[in-house]
Amino acid sequence: MNCCLCGKENSIGHHVFGGASRLISDKYRLVVPLCHYHHTGAGGFHQLKDGREIAKWERKFCKMLGLDYNKTLRAVISKHNREYLDKRWKILHGIWADWE
Ligand SMILES: [Zn+2]
Ligand SMILES: [Zn+2]
Repeated sequence: MNCCLCGKENSIGHHVFGGASRLISDKYRLVVPLCHYHHTGAGGFHQLKDGREIAKWERKFCKMLGLDYNKTLRAVISKHNREYLDKRWKILHGIWADWE
């Protein structure tokens, strides 16, 4: 698979929703291909510290998978991890700026 952000080859699967929701990402195939740079590298998702940025990337990945971010959070995540959904909602609405 090629990186969904830059098209580079030899990418690996990144779980759109990680941590406690990683299994949910597996179950619903919420996985996108990312190259090393865009995954754990200097310009990668896992280097992001700002919750709003993290939520923005998650939203971008959902869009790439043809999914609406808010609906995905509500329909998929909320069933399994209410806390995760609440945190995302607060971040997207500027109520919660911190990230773990
Ligand atoms: Zn890339
Ligand atoms: Zn990842």
